[in-house]
Parts: sequence; structure tokens; C-alpha cells
Amino acid sequence: MHQLTLAEIARGLADKKFSSEELTKVLLARIAQLDPQLNSFISLTEDLALQQAKAADARRANGESGALLGAPIAHKDLFCTQGIRTSCGSKMLDNFKAPYDATVVAKLAAAGAVTLGKTNMDEFAMGSANESSYYGAVKNPWNLECVPGGSSGGSAAAVAARLLPAATATDTGGSIRQPAAFTNLTGLKPTYGRVSRWGMIAYASSLDQGGPLARTAEDCAILLQGMAGFDPQDSTSIDEPVPDYSAGLNGSLQGLRIGVPKEYFSAGLDPRIADLVMASVEELKKLGAVVKEISLPNMQHAIPAYYVIAPAEASSNLSRFDGVRFGYRCEDPKNLEDLYKRSRGEGFGPEVQRRIMVGAYALSAGYYDAYYLKAQKIRRLIKNDFMAAFNEVDIILGPTTPNPAWKLGAKNNDPVSEYLEDVYTITANLAGLPGLSMPAGFVDGLPVGVQLLAPYFQEGRLLNVAHQYQQNTDWHTRTPTGF
Ligand code: GLN
Repeated sequence: MHQLTLAEIARGLADKKFSSEELTKVLLARIAQLDPQLNSFISLTEDLALQQAKAADARRANGESGALLGAPIAHKDLFCTQGIRTSCGSKMLDNFKAPYDATVVAKLAAAGAVTLGKTNMDEFAMGSANESSYYGAVKNPWNLECVPGGSSGGSAAAVAARLLPAATATDTGGSIRQPAAFTNLTGLKPTYGRVSRWGMIAYASSLDQGGPLARTAEDCAILLQGMAGFDPQDSTSIDEPVPDYSAGLNGSLQGLRIGVPKEYFSAGLDPRIADLVMASVEELKKLGAVVKEISLPNMQHAIPAYYVIAPAEASSNLSRFDGVRFGYRCEDPKNLEDLYKRSRGEGFGPEVQRRIMVGAYALSAGYYDAYYLKAQKIRRLIKNDFMAAFNEVDIILGPTTPNPAWKLGAKNNDPVSEYLEDVYTITANLAGLPGLSMPAGFVDGLPVGVQLLAPYFQEGRLLNVAHQYQQNTDWHTRTPTGF
């Protein structure tokens, strides 16, 4: 039963082949048996899950239906869950029980989804390897010596290992797409403003966006349907109608114009990944797509701009964790300043402290123009590049990551080398565009992802293209050995 996708679960529940309660029990047992190898969960919510599963079964017995009614999922541990620990992967929030549900959590619960638990993540979503969590690193089910990607590594490892069919995640600079690529999943970062950020603990507010991680585009459509929509509680939420994503999956790709940016094929890209990217282009050509080389000339500036803007926003957002209002407080503070300093010094891990220092520096009076303002100007140039490209093509295709998953610990002494791995994903966040990563092959037994980008609010187009690709390839069906 653990092999079923969300779409298959919805059909099985509708046909009364099994109940949500039965399925939930199977998955909880599987998590108990296999998760010790992966460390993909921070908290399990067995009681809540069984209660929600029974309620979903009762709703179905009363004639209700819906693709998410009774579907087991998990939430990245930065979505606030009422009365349940919401740690953000940090010692700072180890004792924090959210007083309310995030909009995404509330919407999915209302649709009947069953929450199995809260998934592990990089501390405050800072990282590309899921090694910075206070709760320990997450392991990649494809190779337990490798990272699963980050920061949504717990959601990715759990779904890839078939502990559950799908999970929520967030993407500030690639944290949905990159772990999807590293674990052979499909992951979608929606347009900025498509999914409410209310109750999602902020990392970099102008970049953060929640979205689905699942095995197929079809399942991402189902989960996104439950997450998307206007929320008056989030001032950056956009009041734009949500299309029926599942209904759009079967559109023809005849005449679809795919742009492949020439800048993507620079020296840093593993040539074996470049070959798999081109193979995916050939596959889409067979389905009627036409391919064109395009240019994103400012892409080379994206990493420096992102690693100024994201830490700048983080330094401001994380100032609320002061030992007074939320979370961790040091023992026996001498005075108020000591309380602030030691609570933050002891509560935050090294990567978070590094980002806060970089951000505070970039925002300080003497350096604001040189760093923060400059980075914002680059951000606009990157957006302009995309706008020009989308005058010529319908989607942009390329690698999700320059390399496959690396060994645990390999980059621990060199944070910049980890930042460089984000080169293909962060531009979509800087521009606010939707992006999807889908499985496209293997290198040394490790999964490789191809990224598709589309114009604002064209999540449906991304899902359509990925679904058609998945109807004609079987990369996404491969399962890691041992799971
Ligand atoms: N790796 C990027 C960072 O560390 C992106 C993380 C994310 O998307 N949350 O900032």
C-alpha cells in the first residue's frame, strides 16, 4: 500500500479498496520501521493522524469526495501546527508549540488530508544539504552516505523512501526543487504569492514560497490544489483564481516552445547531467515541442545577489527570536543584554549565525548601498532577463542542480561551495517565478532532476509538461533499494 501515489490513493479510497485509517496505520508502521535510517521526521503525530483518518473515512461514508480526503501527508517543520511542536529545525524553537495553524496546514486539513508528522529540515531553512538541522542530518534513501538536498530534505527523503506519498515543503532559493532532484521526486515552487505564507516561519520573506513535493506531477497538482489560493492574512498573497491543475495535465505539447539558456552549460555543470538534460529535451521534442537556445545574461550575478538579499531578510526576520518572546532562553542571564546574547548564541546553530552576521553587515548604514541596494538592482536585471526570454518561449528548461547529491559532510568546511550548488534554482526566487523539478535520469546511481520554469501563475503549464513527460518516461517510478 505504501507504493501508492496520491492519485491512486484517492481512487482506492473512493472505490472502498481500503480506508484512510488502514492506510494511515500501514504508513505509521513503515515510518517507525524505516525512518531511523533516514531521520526524516522531527515529530510524529500518530494520534492526530488516526483521528483525522477516522474523520475522513466518516466524511466519505457520508458521501463526500475529494482527492485529498483521507490522504496521508506530512508538513515541513516550519509550517505552524496548533499545539504541536514547530521547531524550524532549530534548538531555538525546540520547545515551541504553535498557537495556531498555518493557512496551508488549515487548508489541507479542511480538504481532509491526514498529517502523519513534521519533517526534518535545515535550521531555519538555511542550507542545501539538510545537515544544519538541530535534530541531525537527513540521509538520502538512494545512498545513505549522501545528503538528500535541503532545506526540505526531510520531506524529500520521506516521500522518496515511500514512507508517505507527498509532503509540503518551502523554497526560498531551491529548497523544494533541489531535494526533489536529489531524491528522484517531482517538486514545484509556485509563483510568489500563489500559496499563503501565513504561519510559515519566515526565512527571507520576499523569496519564501510553499509548495508540494511528491513522486509525480499528477500528485503535485493534487497537493498544490489544496495549498494554493488568496489569503487575506498574507499581504503578499495574490488574489488570482486557482485553476483546476489536475484537469490541465493532459494538454498537448504540440508547438510548445522550450527555451534552453546557453549560460546553463558552463564549466560548473557535470557533463553527465548536461547529457540527461538534452535527453529530456529530445523526449519533449517527440511530444511536439520545439526548442530554441536563449540567453539569461545576468545569471552569473544571481548567487552573490541572493546571498546578500536572503541573509539580509533573515537577519531582520530572526531578530524576533530574542529569548523573550519565542523559544529558547539561556540559563541565569546576568542582565537583559546577556539574555539576548546568550539566548541567540546558544539557540542558533553556526550556519544561522553566519547568515545573520552577513545580513546585518549588508544592511548596515555604511554598506547598504554597496551590497543590499546593488543586490536589489541585480534582482531586477534577472527578472528582466526572464521577461525577455518569455517573449520568445513558453517554458525554460535546464538542470536543477550542477551536480548530483554529495557525501554527508563533504562541504561542511566550505559553506560557499554549498551556496554555489544553488546556481540554477535561486533565479526563480529572485524573479518570483514558478519552477518545477522532475526526475530525468541517474548519475552514479544518484537521481538527476531537470528544471522547468514558466511565466507568473503558469504552474499549470509546468505540471502539464512534466505530466506528459512522465507519461512517456519511467525515471519517476524508480524506487531506492531497501525502501
Ligand atoms: N540553499 C539556499 C539557502 O541556503 C536555499 C534554501 C531554501 O530554499 N530554503 O539559502
